[in-house]
Amino acid sequence: MHRPHSNRARSGQAPTSLGAVRISRADRQELIAHARDEAPNECCGYLRATDGVVEEVFRAVNGRNSPYGYELDPKSLFAVNDLDDQGFQVGIYHSHPRSPAEPSQTDINLANYPGWTYWIVSLGGEEPEVRAWRIADGRVDEESIEVD
Ligand SMILES: [Zn+2]
Repeated sequence: MHRPHSNRARSGQAPTSLGAVRISRADRQELIAHARDEAPNECCGYLRATDGVVEEVFRAVNGRNSPYGYELDPKSLFAVNDLDDQGFQVGIYHSHPRSPAEPSQTDINLANYPGWTYWIVSLGGEEPEVRAWRIADGRVDEESIEVD
């Protein structure tokens, strides 16, 4: 759906969230490696970024230990909030071992942090796929990813 007004509003609120998010090839590979290590269960973790550039990726423990959902362990969730408080851009990631890298309805319902980026690693296709999303009030917007 075309939403010119919401885009304009968003650019006024958070100019740094516009444009592509950049991640190194190594960090992207680490997300995929984690997804493979945990398959068939979903993996999860978080990442820290500055000015739209991912600086570090951290593995977390999926408290649900399940192929059908994820929940960051409390220590990791605390750490992400701490990074957020320190002024970093943060994101959390999880894997979809068998389905596309798109937020499920459950993912949307459980996305409690509108300022965070939600990364999904899919192993469901021929090649692994990594995509990033903003989820706020049930609305989903994709962020483009640049790998370098
Ligand atoms: Zn999911």
